[in-house]
Amino acid sequence: MKGLVFDGHRTVKYETVDDPRIEAPDDVIVRVRKTAICGSDLHPYHEREEGLDYGTVMGHEFIGEIVEMGDEVEGLEVGDSVYAPFSTNCGKCFYCRIGLTSRCPHGQLFGWVGVGEGLQGAQAEFVRVPLASSTLLPILEGLADEEALLVGDAFSTAYFCAENAGVRPGGIYAVVGCGPVGILAILAARQLGAEIVYAIDSVPERLRLAHEACAVPIDFSVDDPVATLQEVSEGRGADAVLEAVGNFGSARTAIEIVRPGGTVSVVGFHCDETFAFSPGEAYDKNLTLRVGRCPARHYMEKLGPIVRDGDLGIERVISHRMPLSEGSEAYRMFDEKRDGCTKVVLTP
Ligand SMILES: [Zn+2]
Ligand SMILES: [Zn+2]
Repeated sequence: MKGLVFDGHRTVKYETVDDPRIEAPDDVIVRVRKTAICGSDLHPYHEREEGLDYGTVMGHEFIGEIVEMGDEVEGLEVGDSVYAPFSTNCGKCFYCRIGLTSRCPHGQLFGWVGVGEGLQGAQAEFVRVPLASSTLLPILEGLADEEALLVGDAFSTAYFCAENAGVRPGGIYAVVGCGPVGILAILAARQLGAEIVYAIDSVPERLRLAHEACAVPIDFSVDDPVATLQEVSEGRGADAVLEAVGNFGSARTAIEIVRPGGTVSVVGFHCDETFAFSPGEAYDKNLTLRVGRCPARHYMEKLGPIVRDGDLGIERVISHRMPLSEGSEAYRMFDEKRDGCTKVVLTP
């Protein structure tokens, strides 16, 4: 089959790779119908996250149909249209039972193979899904493919971020970073009742999307977010900040604009060695910090119906639709934020 493989620093190639095959009785092979490039794919792409084997098939966002199943798969059939979170989970352990499926000790991330161990990714024609009975979900009738694709990772992550921030009607909120997850976090916050959401970025296209999602855009290259948030809150700052980037600058902005007693909710993956603020600053802010990887499988069950029945328009974050064969160029474009690129969906 064909797939997008990692070939070193900022290099992804469209190549022929081995077809995946059933390796365990709870495995499923999915023919990928749509796959997307995620901001977190850029960490190994830039080798900020080190250790990904060359030749690994990239990607963890996909939907498709089941073409082959192991003997012990339950609740799924060949031919089912399915979607998945970015990692597998067993459905039985302590963490799966409490809904923290992203910390299942048996879970594996799609698209991560290090020293020969791990799971191939989904930016390919086919993908092997271990622990399929508890990882995959049939796509609800009425849920569009692109919606399902986003619910599997980006929208779940965004909603988790907003819930962790304690968003409710009446507060003043700020989203730092208006990439796909940031824009979806605005939509999630509004779904949870937020009326006032400020959106901080400097890329015009992203600020426009934030505005369309009914947030108040702040271009930090022109205006000071700290001053703006203080002006609108009698000098206090934001009740909660949704940090959807994952670098020093974004975390720094978050701590500076949150009010004392407020919450900073972090879903951006940070490659830095320390947080961007000191224990003293956290103390002086009486800060609540919520951080971590979204239990997307848990959120998919909750959000599938919300997206299907609502009018959120989450697919607005998709800026480009391209064939998988143009994946190398798609990575470059997404990485360089060229042509207003916010999110790319690839079709094998
Ligand atoms: Zn992702
Ligand atoms: Zn588990």
